[in-house]
Amino acid sequence: MRRAGRVVAEIHEVLFEAIRPGQTGLGLDALARAVLERRHAGSNFLGYGSPPFPAVICVSVNGVVVHGIPSATPFEEGDLVSVDCGAIVDGYHGDAAFTAGVGRLAEADERLLVVTAHALAAGVAAARDGAHLHDIGRAVQRVVEAAGFGVVRDYVGHGIGRAMHEPPDVPNFWPGRPGPRLRTGVALAIEPMVAAGTGETVVAPDGWAVLTADGTRAAHFEHTVLVGPDGGEVLTTLGPDRAVGTPPGPGAVERR
Ligand code: MG
Ligand code: MG
Repeated sequence: MRRAGRVVAEIHEVLFEAIRPGQTGLGLDALARAVLERRHAGSNFLGYGSPPFPAVICVSVNGVVVHGIPSATPFEEGDLVSVDCGAIVDGYHGDAAFTAGVGRLAEADERLLVVTAHALAAGVAAARDGAHLHDIGRAVQRVVEAAGFGVVRDYVGHGIGRAMHEPPDVPNFWPGRPGPRLRTGVALAIEPMVAAGTGETVVAPDGWAVLTADGTRAAHFEHTVLVGPDGGEVLTTLGPDRAVGTPPGPGAVERR
């Protein structure tokens, strides 16, 4: 799983650097395919579900929360672009997502991005041996709602391992019960999806893209983590200099 996580992180680095005005979702997908090929890794996104997902990454722009199909529409200055991707190495899965701005972001969008990254960091910190599963969602929800944003409740994180989506569900909110205790070594994909509005969603006619129902913008950060004694160990990273929950690259959030 560590190797799959590193391939996902490498894709993130390549795509993060490539996001600029004029770039397209299809362009990012091609770059991601090249990394998978170079690392002899499989895609857990391509062909997934019904209708079969047609790409190795999801590209979700502005009011699209998750599951956007990469398109030929060029990104524009001020867009919020969420990229979600995965990889399979030796039968084990990695899965992670980040949101980045195209050029300069409006202040409110920048704040949405940073708060969502912080919410992921809070969720990862809560993935601690002996804590309860839903302590993760409680930690995420607290950060999101303190900032005045809305947690998306229709989609959740998940267990991950020999399959991309395994039990348990990992909601980004407190579901009213603590859930099972977490034990060291359990692998989870923690992935806050946050909207500037209520967080309610609708699915686009293509059967994939999930949009905010109120048209507000959304952000999505995700890491594959292992529960550990002091919090989650992030597997979808290239090293400790890459801060948890920030886009790849040291100080990536700060430098925008
Ligand atoms: Mg994902
Ligand atoms: Mg996931």
